[in-house]
Amino acid sequence: MKTKELSLLLLLIFNSFSVFSQSEYLFCKSDEMVAKSLKEHPELKQNQDQLEIITQQNYNLPAEKQIYVVPVVFHIIHEYGTENISDAQVIDAIKVMNEDYSLTNSDAANIVSQFSGIAANIGFQFKLANKDPQGNCTNGIDRIVSPETFIGDDGSKLNPWPRNMYLNIWVVKNVQDAAAYAYLPGTAPSNNVDGIICRADYVGSIGTSNHTKSHTLSHETGHFFNLKHTWGNSNSPGVSCGSDNVNDTPTTMGWTSCNLSGATCSSPLDNVQNFMEYSYCSCMFTAGQKSRMVTAITSAWGSRNNLWTSSNLSATGVSGTPVICTPVADFTSSSTFVCAGSSLNFSDISYNGIVTNRTWIVNGGTASSLNDSVITVTYNTPGTYSVTLTVSNASGSDVVTKNGVVIVLPTTAAYTSGWTEDFENDVIPEADWIPHNMSTASFGISNSVHYTGSKSLSYINSASYVGLVSEVAGPTFDMTAISNPVLTFHVAFAQRTSDNTDKLRMLVSTDCGKTWAQRYYKLGTTLSTSSATTSSFYPSSQSSWRMETVPMNNYAGLTNVRIKFEFTSQGGNNLFIDDINLGGYSFADEILSAHAIQVFPNPATDEIYIESLDGMNPEYILIADASGKILSELYPEKAIEVLNIQTYAAGIYFVKVRMIDGSVVVRKFVKE
Ligand SMILES: [Zn+2]
Repeated sequence: MKTKELSLLLLLIFNSFSVFSQSEYLFCKSDEMVAKSLKEHPELKQNQDQLEIITQQNYNLPAEKQIYVVPVVFHIIHEYGTENISDAQVIDAIKVMNEDYSLTNSDAANIVSQFSGIAANIGFQFKLANKDPQGNCTNGIDRIVSPETFIGDDGSKLNPWPRNMYLNIWVVKNVQDAAAYAYLPGTAPSNNVDGIICRADYVGSIGTSNHTKSHTLSHETGHFFNLKHTWGNSNSPGVSCGSDNVNDTPTTMGWTSCNLSGATCSSPLDNVQNFMEYSYCSCMFTAGQKSRMVTAITSAWGSRNNLWTSSNLSATGVSGTPVICTPVADFTSSSTFVCAGSSLNFSDISYNGIVTNRTWIVNGGTASSLNDSVITVTYNTPGTYSVTLTVSNASGSDVVTKNGVVIVLPTTAAYTSGWTEDFENDVIPEADWIPHNMSTASFGISNSVHYTGSKSLSYINSASYVGLVSEVAGPTFDMTAISNPVLTFHVAFAQRTSDNTDKLRMLVSTDCGKTWAQRYYKLGTTLSTSSATTSSFYPSSQSSWRMETVPMNNYAGLTNVRIKFEFTSQGGNNLFIDDINLGGYSFADEILSAHAIQVFPNPATDEIYIESLDGMNPEYILIADASGKILSELYPEKAIEVLNIQTYAAGIYFVKVRMIDGSVVVRKFVKE
């Protein structure tokens, strides 16, 4: 008991430290990316140096009155998740940027008096493009389905539009531990990556973002137009006094919190509310920053000086009367798998133009409507079906067909007793093995790799598959005749490098695949059965495999239990699965190992503690009575687990602990 209380106390202390030592918001990694680019391309440095010379001279010029209009394209890189933000959220983001750059943002009222005199209307206006680089109609929001959304680096900047015509803003799910980054003028390692990349939940003030995060794009656009962080060229605010080369912003160490009376260096007060701070209460640019940005947008050294020319505003369609474009057809479904006799929903998420007419074609199902934006479709016959959506408005129409978008499964199980799968006579797809998310990255059958026989289930990995999730649903079981059901399978996997975190999960569904519960999850080193290798991994002998055991007792007595394997690639190495077995479990099958597992008190009356003494966490714990009947399954998240045994009859019981290295320990205890 003492150990447990102490651990809890330490956990609480640790947690409170981490809360107070870190901002809940992510930062920007522009400095790091610019530094990396200049290191790899030293020839770019002269762009910066030349622009800086003109910038310093221009601080003396009177304030600019001109409005500079900037055509913008948002490229939403997505995998149909929350990162596929709505048009409304993008339009809101443009509105926030325009408020911030015209000093009409509502929080400008909060600017402290010491800085209100130099708060500047920058005079930049951002407009979504209405013509793409080929002159075709666009609403300025480009949507691309790609796993690059999970990566968010320069390689994720898909379909760049010419940087001398558009400000490219890529929206993704992750930006490598940051909220966003942008290249300063003239510093991008190639023209195709010049622009801003930003997490979807830091775009605008609505939808997946919020007001506090809404100024992120104004900050990044500041970098794009040659503003540094207020503390200079470092990604770490609060370290040392630095200058941003702006004539009217105080020297500062920079802020990660909103301390409005903060003064870190020689000045009486820091400009904590500057958009180029990390204070997350930013609401202003200064007159000096305006001069700097105007220089950047007008100088050839920055490659931004064509954006606002009247010929470019015409070419990008932002100066003419806005045109409604032909929609691009797209839709999503509420699930992929469904039981025969059940229904699911399809939702129209077409983009680029308002849809005025819509027609669905649903093969094999009965739809609630063939014209609504969301339809419910009921499927009675098992099979794999396609759905087609046609959308149109006055300017044209578009159509999309998705094959295999719904998989209808039988409600009766394929197997009613024990089952073995050796993959010797299988193909994918077939009735027992139904793949989902079919792409170049998919489960298949290996004709040469095996634990026994000559074949196995395989996933041949590639560095280009990062973020791709591949699934293969297995057969269904009626478990009523299997006592203490347990599933075992053999796995072989090696990492490509020690930091690859490819993941394997096994999941179980009792509703024909509509919902799934995880029963097995290993990744990276824990999943490995062989040491990391930069060459393609193929197991050389049975010793390169490991048997995994998944208790299925929670499903005992159910009549339609389906299993599924799911592999998430992080660009690592190959995975193989062979010799899957579902059958009844017996303690006698197990080999005892030397792990130190303590079960106490013993004898016990109310509860027992099961503790791993050598630091390794158990994967799961089974409790069985003297006849071998399993009474309880535990999935501990720490090295000590407690179990209430008040309802157990007096007698002898067994505790079976499976460690994450695959070894097994059995201990006996007496209930009094
Ligand atoms: Zn920044």
